[in-house]
Amino acid sequence: MRQSRTFIPTLRESPADAEIASHRLLLRAGYLRRVASGIYEFLPLGVRVLRKISGIIREEMNAAGAQEIMLPVLQPRELWEESGRWAKYGPEMMRLKDRAERDFGLGPTHEEVITDLVRSNVSSYRELPMNLYQIGSKFRDEIRPRFGLMRAREFIMKDAYSFDRDEEGMRESYRGMYEAYGRIFSRCGCTWRAVEAATGLIGGDVSHEFMVPAAAGEDCIALCDRCSYAANLDLAAYRRGEPPQGEGKDVEAVRTPDRRTIGEVGEFLGLQPERMIKCLMYLVEGRPVAVLIPGDREANEAKLARVFASDEFRLFREEDWKKYPTYLQGFVGPVGLDGVEVVADISLQGAGGMACGANREDYHLVNVEEGRDFCVGRFADITNAREGDACPRCEGRLRMETGIEVGQVFQLGLKYSQAMRCYYHDEEGVSRPMYMGCYGIGVTRLMAAVVEQHHDERGIIWPLSVAPAQLHVIPLDFQKENRRRAAEELYETFVQRGWEVLLDDREESAGVKFADADLLGMPFRLVIGRGYDEDGTVELQERATGQGARMDAEDALARLEESFRSFRNLAARDDA
Ligand code: ATP
Ligand code: MG
Repeated sequence: MRQSRTFIPTLRESPADAEIASHRLLLRAGYLRRVASGIYEFLPLGVRVLRKISGIIREEMNAAGAQEIMLPVLQPRELWEESGRWAKYGPEMMRLKDRAERDFGLGPTHEEVITDLVRSNVSSYRELPMNLYQIGSKFRDEIRPRFGLMRAREFIMKDAYSFDRDEEGMRESYRGMYEAYGRIFSRCGCTWRAVEAATGLIGGDVSHEFMVPAAAGEDCIALCDRCSYAANLDLAAYRRGEPPQGEGKDVEAVRTPDRRTIGEVGEFLGLQPERMIKCLMYLVEGRPVAVLIPGDREANEAKLARVFASDEFRLFREEDWKKYPTYLQGFVGPVGLDGVEVVADISLQGAGGMACGANREDYHLVNVEEGRDFCVGRFADITNAREGDACPRCEGRLRMETGIEVGQVFQLGLKYSQAMRCYYHDEEGVSRPMYMGCYGIGVTRLMAAVVEQHHDERGIIWPLSVAPAQLHVIPLDFQKENRRRAAEELYETFVQRGWEVLLDDREESAGVKFADADLLGMPFRLVIGRGYDEDGTVELQERATGQGARMDAEDALARLEESFRSFRNLAARDDA
């Protein structure tokens, strides 16, 4: 690649809306451009990185026995009706009509299409297990597209789907994918961890997310400091201590004028927040539900969704408080709250000596006991774990970390195969539903995650495995005949040996060339400058360390070949 002939529109300033490093740097370094909110163009260097990442994914998927296919983005409504997700997927699915007014969706994921493909074409136990994957565009009309490639509306995903005869087979396929995922993220240069995850709209029982730890991550993970327990906050359990106890006194109403928040009321009553019961009113599929949690905790909506068995719920809004005047905003509490379903966090089971809203303007109740003064329809884990909570599996403590979800794997079980009748005949000729698994990697999100883990204030620092070019050849004063010739020769030599090289053949100052090289982030660079005139040496520099050494061009060549070779050996070992 000759830099003068390559489309790399760098920017001096960071775009105003780019909040995180990967977004900022990929735009500034000319890898990407934005077309509309959450929709991006990949420029030549960006495409090269994507190809590298996709290449690693392909190698690992193929090695794990998966077969590559291509499925359509445009999908007919009928298939989504069969799984029940045409209605369920909601506004996140981009929808359109063809000229005959037939409904289509742009695939946010491909379980329906693949299940249809397999049910129509696979019928014998002999053909199973089967694992099919593709790398292609997905569309999700995210509420808040942001952070560049992290949360886009059109993005590239690798999605794989496994089909097995039985549950054991499904677990085996899952294990294979789980291991391949670890290799993929390591080969892309990322540190990662797999955590237990909720299954959301995709469904199934067992799932893991692959997280790349990064400050910019949108996901929160709870990790035990002793055992291997690691879970997404949406699933993370924590062991509750003994509930608070009272002294058996009668409930008493206390006037709490002008005090509304848990903190204000607690302070006024001389009680710690964990002694207060927060009563949150939710509208669940159109009906009110009271949700009780300790005053020092936050409700987790993913946990609530599982308790409600519905995604269709929200906290009371102004109009709901008006519509249900029996619930007094700011003073709602569980005592005497009749005719409404009450869900409470398990930590409140058997709690006494508590305070809560009195369902009366400007009043709170104290000495409240669960069981004696109010009843709960259902206890469940509905609150967020936090730093220092007790691990659910051992005596350790939980700590919190933020990460980027780059992939997720699911054991789907029979969810789609039963709904869509994806059956096979076993050895006895008995018809049985296939056990499925599905496995996604956000390819474009992974590209951003790599940058989050590999950059400094000057620019990107690509790992060798995914760099758009491994080497940046930078002649200073390109118009000087001898340097130009040396640069061209080195460039040709490397290219012939199969390396990817970016040659800075622009007539720019040394300062501009170095700043651009730092920004673009090729792992190695060869600088041909004054040393070359003096004694024929070039400087070999490493982007990551910033260190350089002067040497003969021959030595530089040998050193680089050595680095690349050990890198390749490493990759080969990963393959094994
Ligand atoms: P998230 O929780 O971040 O919205 P998800 O759990 O809905 O993601 P999956 O259905 O598991 O996503 O999709 C598989 C992978 O696709 C994710 O692990 C993630 O890496 C990627 N991905 C999902 N949504 C987006 C998006 N809007 N932009 C970029 N990548 C995405
Ligand atoms: Mg996911």
